Amino acid sequence: MLNELVELGKRIRKPGDHDALKQEVVTADIVIDAQGNFFEITIVDKQPTKAEALLSKKGKARLLLDKAEEVFGLEAKKHQLFMQKLEQFQHVPSVNPVLLFYGANKANGIDKAAARFASMPDKEKPKGNFAFCLVGEGQRIHEKKDVQEAVIECFEAQQKQNTRSDGQLCSLCGTADYPILDQPHGMIKNVPAGQTSGCALVSYNTPAFESYGLTGNENSSICTACARKYVEGLNYLLNNGVICTPEKGKPYKQYSNRKNLSADTAMIFWTRNLTAVPELTFVENSQDHVPDILSLLRSTSATAKVHRDDALHTLLNTPFTAQQESLKSVDPDLFYSCMLSGAAARIAIRNWIETTTPKVRANLATWFHDIATIERDFESKQNQVQFFSLNRLAGACGVHRKKEMSGQTMFALDREDPFLGRAATMLWNCALLGAAPPYTLLDRVLRRIRLEEGRVTAARVAVLRLILNRNSAMKIAGGQRMQPQLDTENTNVAYIAGRIFAVLENIQTAALGKDLNAPLRDRFYSSASTSPAPAFGRLMKLSQAHLGKLRNENRGLYVTLDSQLGELFTRIQSFPATFSLEEQGQFAIGYYHQRQAYFSGKGTADSDKQNKDTIETSSTGV
Ligand SMILES: [Zn+2]
Repeated sequence: MLNELVELGKRIRKPGDHDALKQEVVTADIVIDAQGNFFEITIVDKQPTKAEALLSKKGKARLLLDKAEEVFGLEAKKHQLFMQKLEQFQHVPSVNPVLLFYGANKANGIDKAAARFASMPDKEKPKGNFAFCLVGEGQRIHEKKDVQEAVIECFEAQQKQNTRSDGQLCSLCGTADYPILDQPHGMIKNVPAGQTSGCALVSYNTPAFESYGLTGNENSSICTACARKYVEGLNYLLNNGVICTPEKGKPYKQYSNRKNLSADTAMIFWTRNLTAVPELTFVENSQDHVPDILSLLRSTSATAKVHRDDALHTLLNTPFTAQQESLKSVDPDLFYSCMLSGAAARIAIRNWIETTTPKVRANLATWFHDIATIERDFESKQNQVQFFSLNRLAGACGVHRKKEMSGQTMFALDREDPFLGRAATMLWNCALLGAAPPYTLLDRVLRRIRLEEGRVTAARVAVLRLILNRNSAMKIAGGQRMQPQLDTENTNVAYIAGRIFAVLENIQTAALGKDLNAPLRDRFYSSASTSPAPAFGRLMKLSQAHLGKLRNENRGLYVTLDSQLGELFTRIQSFPATFSLEEQGQFAIGYYHQRQAYFSGKGTADSDKQNKDTIETSSTGV
């Protein structure tokens, strides 16, 4: 990973960039003339400038660009460091006016400037760096060619002087061109949950980490040149982006190489040729990219040459392996990604992915195929495909808290749930690598469904399908693929049991109305999905009473529901005593699909409406 970050650091460099120089910010210019006479202090709006690079500011002053404490001598020790640095470069012609300003022409120079600074109201005093500028010149003194050349020369000389006599080679570049020193490698800014001054990726800051008689960062075996580049690379990935100003709400930064997964975790990604991978945006914001996703699926499909609309069904219902053949012509640009979290002053790397861009595209196509959900659109009365965003899927694994709002029970996602970040990390891994989600995710989703009174939502079904279909153990056990909509061909016992549970629920609602004190789902979902034999025994007794009531009140509906129930029962020999974790997943999907089928007109008009109402009230806050 460090090697690739060093490569990235080299690639993002602009002509004229050098390890000795670094981008800094100027907040005010001290304008003087060639004799060191003070003219004025001009406040500028945080202008970027290239100045002497310091890895850490502690105990150091920067040449000709520093804070008020150093420049105006507000702190004696810091000012002394600043003056020492200036004297070190006194041979450089461009530095001469500043030497006069502090020395021979002191009375008209620094004394006047310091008085001017002191007279400024506290609120107006610039807080950042002061630079020096000759009157009438646009270029600041530290930006002049001879000054920057001298800084580079001094840096190179220091590097040579520091090169270790034992010739220890850098573990990244494999050379001894630059020394391996016990000095900070540089700070990484904007790390999620990291400290604002920045975090260190590599830091041997206590003796416990040291070995072989080496001190501090000498233990890292990373030379100063490589250290500088990996720090620049990582900072670029975490911070590169554009500021967006929406019509409503606050401006925010749209990162180009970073996705925030939770408060303390972010994913960074890049390709070796620094090309964009727009498909990653689809994962994050699927709702707005349905046509793009469908065209990605068609372009990478091995199973369907899809040009007609009815082929959508084939595309989403058949096992899918994104065709690598069609991608062979694409330049196999390497793709890198890692997830990282801040931990006080340090960075924790959670994973590292190295693959190729065509593979990522193919994996993303498979991802969208596997999470596709087909639902009925009530307005157009058509089946519509939907793809959930990764955050929505991660949210489906999170804790939802029950709330009473205007007389209705709602479940709202608890955004503080620490599992959300872990779920997002696991799901990104699956999306990028085409991997099967771990069983912890299955256990988690099922537990949430049981604890939330059987709340099986569309997003939860999408996650369950992804886990079950991608898990090889399922295939070995003869499990059938879970489809994106009701699958009447599926003979899986748990799937059918889930469907039966939905029919029983529908019978209860039809007989007793939807405002129930004890809805079937709240009371029985948990037991029916884990211990079906005893639970369905009780449920059948209960449903006989409901059916009896219905037969007297609505004969047509009674016949429809009773025959649906009968038809499903013919497919099950007997209910097993328990359902395994996978079976509980199949049960949830069967239950959800059967409920959805009522919307598509496979139930009755009455039950359609009733079910729509119950699902709408219960699935808010996915
Ligand atoms: Zn190196």
